[in-house]
Amino acid sequence: MTVSIHPSVDSGLKPGRADFEGGTLTCKCAHDPVKVAIKGNVAHNHACGCTKCWKPGGAVFSVVGVVPRENVTVIAHPEKLYIVDPNATIQRHACKECGVHMFGRIENKSHPFYGLDFIHTELSSDDGWAPPEFAAFVSSIIESGFPPSRMGEVRSRLKELHLEPYDALSPPLMDAIATHIAKASGKLAA
Ligand SMILES: [Zn+2]
Ligand SMILES: [Zn+2]
Repeated sequence: MTVSIHPSVDSGLKPGRADFEGGTLTCKCAHDPVKVAIKGNVAHNHACGCTKCWKPGGAVFSVVGVVPRENVTVIAHPEKLYIVDPNATIQRHACKECGVHMFGRIENKSHPFYGLDFIHTELSSDDGWAPPEFAAFVSSIIESGFPPSRMGEVRSRLKELHLEPYDALSPPLMDAIATHIAKASGKLAA
């Protein structure tokens, strides 16, 4: 049996639409769901193996991408949202009832990714979101109890899906973080 990565990628990636204008994320509550409007498309969408990102039941990876924070607006039931861990770098705003993470926000202004919110496009029924481009923090799935002996299988399946597996973020994002740090410390001209 092929290893399942995430329900939205297991049968192949759906291409996005260049002219996609955005959509609405809805939590899993049957009544009074939290709704978050997203303007524009998602960037750096990826499968993530870390233990912090929200994933649907049974999924080994989450699928998460970023949008500018000003493009994120809670349009229904903000009173149901709470911050999962106020001390975490990414403050994940989740629904108190169903537990779904609606958006993750970085409040530390000196963080390389300040200004970007993390979202899960699977919470939207709108068509046209950019598909995931790579897989991040692949080795971290072991921390959730995934058998280390099956990691070869996972990495082969990710490659087959054109989701290049990395054990941190992708090289362009790791370079962006290092550049930000070097500019902050003066090693590179700002
Ligand atoms: Zn909910
Ligand atoms: Zn993650």
